[in-house]
Order: sequence, then C-alpha cells, then structure tokens
Amino acid sequence: MAIVMEEHELRQLVQSCRFAARNGKIPDYIPALKKADPGLFGCVVCNGEKTITAGEVEEPFTLQSVSKIISLALALMDKGEEAVFQKVGMEPSGDPFYTLQALEEGRPSRPMNPMINAGALAVTSLLAGNSTEEKLGRLLAFVHELTENTSINICEETAQSELEHADLNLALCHYMKSHGVVHGNMEELLEVYIKQCALRVTCRDLAKIGSVIGRNGNDPATGRSIIPPRIARIVKTFMVTCGMYNASGEFAIKAGIPTKSGISGALVSALPDGTGIGIVSPPLDEKGNSAGGVKLLETLAERRKLSIF
Ligand code: GLU
Repeated sequence: MAIVMEEHELRQLVQSCRFAARNGKIPDYIPALKKADPGLFGCVVCNGEKTITAGEVEEPFTLQSVSKIISLALALMDKGEEAVFQKVGMEPSGDPFYTLQALEEGRPSRPMNPMINAGALAVTSLLAGNSTEEKLGRLLAFVHELTENTSINICEETAQSELEHADLNLALCHYMKSHGVVHGNMEELLEVYIKQCALRVTCRDLAKIGSVIGRNGNDPATGRSIIPPRIARIVKTFMVTCGMYNASGEFAIKAGIPTKSGISGALVSALPDGTGIGIVSPPLDEKGNSAGGVKLLETLAERRKLSIF
C-alpha cells in the first residue's frame, strides 16, 4: 500500500514547519516540561508496510494528554460502554481541558467527555486493577502491545514534578467524588492519571499507535486485533470531536484527520487507510496544541487530500 508521501518530501515539510514552532510557547505549569527543547521537531509516518521519518525522531517525550485515548480504549475494554458513559459524556465542551466550570453547570454533574481532564480522570478511575501498581502495570502492558516496544516506561521525574503541582487536577477529583462520579482514594487516582500522562515514548511509538487505531484496532504487523473495532471507532470519533482541545472544530475543518494532542507537543493521527502519524514539537499555540505539529498536519492534509470529510 502506498504511503502518503516520500521521505524526502516529509523532510522538506518538517523543515518548512519549523518556523511555525517558533510562534509557540513551552507550557510552564509542569516544571519538568519547561525543560523541553523548543527546537525539537520529529515526525514518523507508518502504514505497517513502510515507515518514513523526518527530524529528531529518536528523542523521547511524555504522552501527556495523548494518553487519554489509550486509557479510554482500555477502560472501554475493561468495563464496557455502558459503565464508561455513565460516568462521562460524549459531547465536545469547547472549554479548556482543565476547567471546573462545566462540571459545576452539568446536571447531573459529570464530565462532558473523556478528553478533558475531568473526563480522563473519571475514565482512569474505571481501569481494572486492585492497586495503583496493578492499574499502571496493565496500562503499560497495553502500551507495549500497541507499540511493540517493551522499553516504554514512566518518566518518574516528569510524574513527580506534575504531582507537586497538581492542585487543580486533585480539585477535579474531589469535586467529582462529592458528586458520586468517582470513588475511593483521590490521591491514588491522581497518581495513576499523572503517571499515565508521564509514559515516555518516541514519534515511532506514536505513529504505531495511530496505525493500530486507524486500522480499527488491528496490529499492522500481524493483523491481530488489539482493540475491538467498535472501541477503536469510539476512540477515533473522540479524536475528531475533542482531540485538539477547544480547537477541535477548526482543526477538523482545516485538516480533517483524527488526531489527539498533548501538552508535551505530541500529536498522534490515525488515517482511515491504517496510516499512523506521530509528531513531536514542544512549543504550543494558544489553545495548547503543538504549533509546528498543527502546521505540518494541516499542510499535509491539504496537499494529499487527507481530510476524512
Ligand atoms: N498531565 C497534564 C495535565 O493533566 C496533561 C495535559 C495535556 O496534555 O493536555 O494537566
């Protein structure tokens, strides 16, 4: 199967998008993330048969909000749709990802969707496992299976740094507990969530994850099903409707590629032909998406007519 473009074209594209990254800003609310190299820019495109790369693709970074699609898939596999969507809605919020406001306004009070922090915390609370270690172990095993990379681990430095500055996420947990959305020990829930965000990957891993999701959950190498097709479809749909924070509508119009972003500057895209795209470029635009990465995907989508719409 043909890949979206030749490697030399991808290299040119990455080179030409580096300027867009200069307009972005490294986020400063998690101290460890402030150390990110603003000049880092990597992109991997893979479709199971072929992999092309451009830029600094071996540099590791943390998943941050990209992990929300992984925990969602696992929670849906663990507990089923009914249990998950009892706790969290399916609608885009149009609000920033950390907001408390929508929780206060909702009747009953439940997060609008699994891609905002409150929703992701509620989803993480559903993961099967009797302890923090067991839940994280299962998440890690799932990521290893999706990426075929068993060397992926948790960046403890980033996790510790975020844990020390997690008052808002802890407040979301307690607010939801008081409304019966989540139960148990909130510090433990916060720890699982923050450590899932601190999973350390490369662009290769992201591209592989995108390829599996694009193939409706099938491993591009073996054809084996890792995520049931219906769950992969739910994940892809959330990537389109809520994957790019409160810029999801604009991105759907300009690029039209199911994509999830994270504040580390990571982006994972899943094309319907089973092509996965993994990007990292840490400076973020005002909505919290990688400025250079968004430029790259919009340009690629326009040139190769990749919009799914
Ligand atoms: N760990 C970050 C937080 O919860 C992730 C945010 C993001 O990537 O959107 O604030």
